[in-house]
Amino acid sequence: MDRETLAASLYARVTSCQLCALSQTRILAVPGEGPLDADVMFIGEAPGANEDKQGRPFVGASGQFLSELLAAAGLARPDVYICNVLKCRPPANRDPLPAEIDACRDYLDEQIDLIDPLVVVTLGRYSMAKFFPNQIISRIHGHPREVAGRWYVPMYHPAAALHQGSLKATMIDDFAALGRLLREVARRDVPVAPPAAKMEPTLQESPAPSPVPGAAKPVQISLFN
Ligand code: SF4
Repeated sequence: MDRETLAASLYARVTSCQLCALSQTRILAVPGEGPLDADVMFIGEAPGANEDKQGRPFVGASGQFLSELLAAAGLARPDVYICNVLKCRPPANRDPLPAEIDACRDYLDEQIDLIDPLVVVTLGRYSMAKFFPNQIISRIHGHPREVAGRWYVPMYHPAAALHQGSLKATMIDDFAALGRLLREVARRDVPVAPPAAKMEPTLQESPAPSPVPGAAKPVQISLFN
């Protein structure tokens, strides 16, 4: 099956999903959007109120700031794929529950396999914990790791800067460094990674754990220092 067919199947399953209690409170599920062959994939936490109404990720104030951040990296929104750990809004924007993350995990894994990006950027601690277990975001934000040919970059969630203005400059710096990483990756012509499922740890609440089990030793480049 081609990517479009696989994506249509995935989106159809997400929009009708009843696997967790969020299906009872959502208005619309938010599967994700962007080019299916995107080199860069952003993974946030969960839809908010605006996303819940529109069925699209990052369309509120966080989405506007994300567009600014993308520009700092030399990217535009149509260039990238954007989705969340949870596809349905938790009531009152509360934190995702472990059972909800477990229930929704297969959709995200399927998305990563489908898009097969060169670079995965996590936005916030819940998506960070999937790839950087036992880490604290204030310590590792903006520091990329390469595992099996794919780069993983943990970033603060754009909403964090909206609540704490002092983070805004930090995030812009981190995204500018992301732009440098993307140019470096393009220059090196880093090969596309094997399916992410081979290296992924279990998604956990942050602060999270140790290195990815069975994965190649992460390499950190100096671009972000
Ligand atoms: S959050 Fe995920 S698992 Fe829960 S109902 Fe929505 S799509 Fe299904």
